[in-house]
Amino acid sequence: MVDKEQKSNSQNTEVFQNGDMIFEEGSFGDCSYIIEKGRVEIYVTIDQEHVRLKILGTGEIFGEMSVIDGSPRSASARALEDCELTVISSAQISERIEDSDPIVSLLINILLQRMRLLNRHAKQLESSPILQALPEEESQKLIDEHQNEPLAKMRLESELKDALKKNQFLAYYQPIIDLSTGQIAGFEALLRWESPQRGMVRPDVFIGVAEETSLIIPLGYWIIERSCQDLVTLQREIAAQGLDIQLFMSINISGRQFQDKAFLDNLCKIVQRYNIAPRNIKLEITEGTLMAGIRSTRVVERCQQRGFKIALDDFGTGYSSMGYLMRFAVDNIKVDKGFVIPMFENDRTRVLTNAIIQLAQGLDNPTIAEGIETPEHHRALRKMGCDYGQGYLYSRPVPLEKVRRFIGSSFRHFDAP
Ligand code: C2E
Ligand code: CA
Ligand code: CA
Repeated sequence: MVDKEQKSNSQNTEVFQNGDMIFEEGSFGDCSYIIEKGRVEIYVTIDQEHVRLKILGTGEIFGEMSVIDGSPRSASARALEDCELTVISSAQISERIEDSDPIVSLLINILLQRMRLLNRHAKQLESSPILQALPEEESQKLIDEHQNEPLAKMRLESELKDALKKNQFLAYYQPIIDLSTGQIAGFEALLRWESPQRGMVRPDVFIGVAEETSLIIPLGYWIIERSCQDLVTLQREIAAQGLDIQLFMSINISGRQFQDKAFLDNLCKIVQRYNIAPRNIKLEITEGTLMAGIRSTRVVERCQQRGFKIALDDFGTGYSSMGYLMRFAVDNIKVDKGFVIPMFENDRTRVLTNAIIQLAQGLDNPTIAEGIETPEHHRALRKMGCDYGQGYLYSRPVPLEKVRRFIGSSFRHFDAP
């Protein structure tokens, strides 16, 4: 199919009446258009349903994608009112692209592929029942946000690169309590980003993007280095107080970091530099890490052989936690806060939490429960035989200066009702 014959009134302008088709999805286009006057609707048809992608107005261009890469039109265009359009021939576009730097034309093609993907995304989104239930204005807003998501991600990615250069990341520490003694046993290192524009940013906002790009690799080394350095500082202060306490440091490691061939060597170099025994470093991994492939699993095993401890984080939230436990002997199991926080909301959650702890005990894996927010959580978990606890009840994650006050302090007072 070729685009419908247009009604020309001069060499390169065309006039369409309200309701006229400009081109149809699936046709082969040899021109694109700039809207001089009027409004044009771009839409697709899904299961014979008309799905609007966008409405364009004066000064906007459309139909350029299939001219550039020669593929069929991925949407239809229709005049929403009487329109005057400037026609841009394929020759006009292709000669410009051919004349451009090969990298530029490569980039254009990549961008086009992304645009097509976005349109396909928008189609799926449009046909979702949730969207159809919304008023038109709200659903358009959702679609716009969805289309802007890749751009927002790219923006965040460059901000993160900049943040790493400008040293805007911080290490916060959350104490982990030995539930049998009430003493601090160690800390979990948690990243924070102090962004001049966004304020203090929690990792949920940026870890995903850092993981999708290779940024998690330098960021991961940064937190390992910083938390080792801070562990040494804390141990020195403990020794200066004449106390005999050995703390561990838990560090979150993403699957992507294990893919880095130099990971284990670099990790060993860092701990050696700070003279830390690997057994005092716990690497917190998730089911996702073990799922990332045999390479990650092997590196995790090699870390363990070198003496590092492995904690399985977010236990119970994935699909196949049991399967991994069968094949892989971790050192600790972390009961996800999703089980702990709502523990008293229903019996089922409490039964499940208890079952996870019993299971871990059977495997000889000490458990760490996160999300302990109340003394009731603390007492219930102690009773279930959970070994370690972490949560807002004891402390939120805090910077090093605030961590010092926990040394030598006890949380035993939470034991008694
Ligand atoms: P996570 O590893 O599950 O870390 C525990 C999260 O639970 C932390 O959130 C902590 O602040 C929060 N939390 C602790 N106690 C409580 C509580 O009593 N109640 C509630 N509601 N929340 C509690 P945070 O610091 O925002 O970190 C979020 C996630 O970001 C972490 O989840 C971890 O997956 C990731 N993350 C943080 N730092 C790093 C890092 O250095 N590397 C990697 N790869 N991921 C990191
Ligand atoms: Ca963790
Ligand atoms: Ca967790």
